[in-house]
Amino acid sequence: MELECRRCRRPVKVSAAQFEVFERMHYVCFHYEFEHGDFDVDEECTAGGCPSASLANGRERVIATARDLAEEAAMAAPWRNAALHEYLEALASWLADSGGYYLNRRTVPPGNGWEVVNDALRAATVYE
Ligand SMILES: [Zn+2]
Ligand SMILES: [Zn+2]
Repeated sequence: MELECRRCRRPVKVSAAQFEVFERMHYVCFHYEFEHGDFDVDEECTAGGCPSASLANGRERVIATARDLAEEAAMAAPWRNAALHEYLEALASWLADSGGYYLNRRTVPPGNGWEVVNDALRAATVYE
């Protein structure tokens, strides 16, 4: 039997197992119906796991962070990972462990990859 979303009337396939949890809707439909609030649907809201997060543009922030770090590095900032190879190794490790990082801070991992990269650039200066 095909499940039908009561919000958009399209078939529910991927999240069929959570059909009742999401009040007989797609996860995305449930989110926009109950969690997204007054935010524009093309704008990320403050609820974790917002499907609109991928639309948010974080590129400018990443550029600004990279420039800030370059300036700090040029001023011989006292980073644990001051050498380039240490920094890059820490960057890779931090990205590999990033799920745990967000979990420890009790936040949902950002849906926008730019945000993860922005956090990673900064964290790699001191990450062990
Ligand atoms: Zn739907
Ligand atoms: Zn939202």
